[in-house]
Amino acid sequence: MMKETYLGVNVSPLSYEGIIEDLRKRISDGEQSTIIAVNPEKVIAAERDSKVKDLINSSTYQIADGIGILLAAKIKGGNITSRVTGVDMMAKLLEFATQEQHPVYFYGAQDEVVTKAITNIQQSNPGIRIAGYTNGFEKDEDALVERINASGAKVLFVALGSPKQELWIQRNMGRLQNVQVFQGVGGSFDVFSGTVKRAPMLFRKLGIEWLYRLISNPSRIKRQMNLPVFLMKVLRSR
Ligand code: UDP
Repeated sequence: MMKETYLGVNVSPLSYEGIIEDLRKRISDGEQSTIIAVNPEKVIAAERDSKVKDLINSSTYQIADGIGILLAAKIKGGNITSRVTGVDMMAKLLEFATQEQHPVYFYGAQDEVVTKAITNIQQSNPGIRIAGYTNGFEKDEDALVERINASGAKVLFVALGSPKQELWIQRNMGRLQNVQVFQGVGGSFDVFSGTVKRAPMLFRKLGIEWLYRLISNPSRIKRQMNLPVFLMKVLRSR
């Protein structure tokens, strides 16, 4: 799979469908796969910390979650022309898991958030096999790994925020041999539970979801300053 690189960070050019097709093959070959969302904030973090960079680059799929990567592709003449968001990727994976009857495990977020998210997910994916769930404040990692193994889960969503969730996956995937697909999904359980609203379609279509999130939560300004910083760096890296 040809990756594109922005400031040393790989991005996969596959669409949602492309990733699902590729996953289908990897699952039948018995390979484990990891999906990580890439945005300007993570690229900046990767520039500062080579461990973060290795963590991203060693994932199977780095999805272009956010307008920043698309703008960088435009500046650099890359081929990434549409976003693959973490939350929509999760929705596609849930559909896929339901079709294939792969049991799904949910780890992360507050207890009432993850349970509400599962209720909603069951409603929109009738027949989905729920292997189990654990809230994101579980302290006993060994017990959790054992529980996930015993659940028969094949797909695991980890929602602890970044880079915590990615580090958790990296640390534990070796001993979660039955799990074949891992996705770090950040705040996605909050979205599926209805606790956090996504931006209206118009904002998403115009690529200004960040503006909506900024208006609804002005304290994000610090995190969002990574976008112009990232773009300046990409421009200068020409
Ligand atoms: N969270 C968790 N355990 C922790 C810290 C955070 O389960 O120790 C959850 C938190 O409840 C929220 C998610 O992780 O559901 C973090 O979402 P955020 O929007 O910060 O992640 P991002 O998508 O920005 O990486």
